[in-house]
Formats: sequence, structure tokens, C-alpha cells
Amino acid sequence: MNRRQTIPKHLRYTIQDFNEQFATDESCLEHLKEQRFPGGITYCDKCQQDRKHYKITGRPVYSCDHCGTQISPMAGTIFEKSTTSLRLWYYSMYLMASTRCGISAKQIQRETGVTYKTAWRMFRQIRSLLSDSDMQLEGSAVEVDEMYHGGKSKNRRGRPMVGDKQKIPVVGIVERSTEKRSGRVYAVTTPDTKKATVMEVIKEKVLPKSTVFTDDFCIYDDLDRHRNEYRHRRINHSAKVYVMGDVHTNTIEGFWSLVKRGIGGVYHQVSQKYLQSYLDEYSFRYNRRDQGNLIFTSLLRRVSELAAPSAVGDRGMSRA
Ligand SMILES: [Zn+2]
Repeated sequence: MNRRQTIPKHLRYTIQDFNEQFATDESCLEHLKEQRFPGGITYCDKCQQDRKHYKITGRPVYSCDHCGTQISPMAGTIFEKSTTSLRLWYYSMYLMASTRCGISAKQIQRETGVTYKTAWRMFRQIRSLLSDSDMQLEGSAVEVDEMYHGGKSKNRRGRPMVGDKQKIPVVGIVERSTEKRSGRVYAVTTPDTKKATVMEVIKEKVLPKSTVFTDDFCIYDDLDRHRNEYRHRRINHSAKVYVMGDVHTNTIEGFWSLVKRGIGGVYHQVSQKYLQSYLDEYSFRYNRRDQGNLIFTSLLRRVSELAAPSAVGDRGMSRA
């Protein structure tokens, strides 16, 4: 049975929906324009006020109805300097948003027919939209745990041995889900797992007065020194205790296994340089798991949200 059928109807966005909504480059451009400048209305530098802009036939630009100054909806976005058709960009974004575990640049190449170099570039640009690094976690109960990626020692899943520099530490924090909302996750690579480093991440993301669940690894000791800020509950993993009432770190560990399965299955090997962007992609999807495949819509919104606001004039124009 097709897995997608399990997604409720209002959260479904199929390839047919995509083909209808984005049949041509023009419809993609029109969509982008509407997201960035609804109704074509935006500030005209020359008129120094908001003006209505109209599409110029045959070119990917819109022009001020008063003075004729042109703007490009692609300027300042990930599409800006690309010669690849906008529709292929949209299709690649659809592919990346629609699979459960993400797809590789190689798959984008196969599906779109662009060169591998182009596919890789698109892949990286699209992924750059997925960072939620400015997100503030709001759960009153969170789990914190760390994992280690890479390294050649046999003990891949374990904590690194002294001198085992190839493993990259990642600190993860997840909100416990409540009846009202699904918990979100934040995962970040760190230079090390010193107490101060881990504490810094926690203070940045977790609201004071939250209950923080961790295991008994010593790097979390500092939480006990911040009793006024956090309530710290630990599970004794080294004594092989994994759950005691609500004291466990199963939620964040579930996220780690998702990441590990994905990296193993789709991306094979990940360098330190790209590990963060893989984590961002997994977190982005995890944090929107209730949206069915409307994740694509979130992704489209990110394009405009992250566009450089001032770069809409001719100088920033795309060379189509
Ligand atoms: Zn104008």
C-alpha cells in the first residue's frame, strides 16, 4: 500500500498537485513574486514608495507601473545566480520535502536531468533553507543528550575514547510533546562535550524553570549547579536503567536513531562540514512532522523568509 495514503487529505500534497500548481517556469515565478511581493506591490527605490509592479513579457522581471524600474523576485534568493529553470528548482524542493528520510543530490540529478555538479549545488542551496537555528524551545519538559558521529573505532555508537578525534559531537535537545503540540528538536554540532560547552547550548535554547531530563553522564553535572534555573532529572544509564516513570531520554534517542538511519541509508558518509546541515534537514522535517507533505509549502515559504530584502533591483537580477 502506498504510504502516502495514510496522510490525512487536508495535509496531502501530491505530485499531481505539484504539476497543476507549478506547470511552468512562469507559474513558479508568479508564485515567488506573490510570496515576496503580494499583489506585486513593493517598495520602488526610485519612486521611494510602495508601487504596483507588472510582469515584463518574456523576462523574469517585474516593472514599477509608475517609473518602470525593474525588480526580480529571484534576486536575493537561492535561485539568484542560477541558470537552471525555476521549475526544476521547485521540483527538487518538492522531492526533498516529500520523502520521509530525505534524498541525495544523486537522486535530484536522476529526477531532473541536470548535471551532478548542478544537482549538488541545488541540494546544498535548498538545504541551507532548513536551519531553525534561531528557534526558541518552549517545552517545560525537555530531554538533552549527545551523540557522536563518525570515527573509525569499533565503538561507533559509544562515547569517544581519549584521543578519538574523528568523532564529531552533537548536542540535541527535544521538547516533550504535550496534548496541545508536538515537541520540537534542536541539534547542533559542538567542538567538544565539555560541561561548559553543553551548558551553553542548554542555556541558549531551554527556557528557565524547565525540567531537563538527561542520563548520568558527567557532562550534565553543571545543570545541578543551576538549580534556580532548571530542574534536573537523571536516568542512570550506566546501571542499565532506561526508564523510571517519566524520567528517560527516549524521545531524543528516537531522534538520534532517525538521524543515524538516514545518514547510513541515504548519505553514507558525512564530513564534519556538512553534518550540521544534515542535522538541520532532519530537525526541519521532525519539527513539521504533523504537516503531512505540506512540508513543501513550509520550504517554499523559507525561500522568501530568508531572501536578502534589499537585493531586488536590476543589479541583483538573475541571469536566466
Ligand atoms: Zn517606481
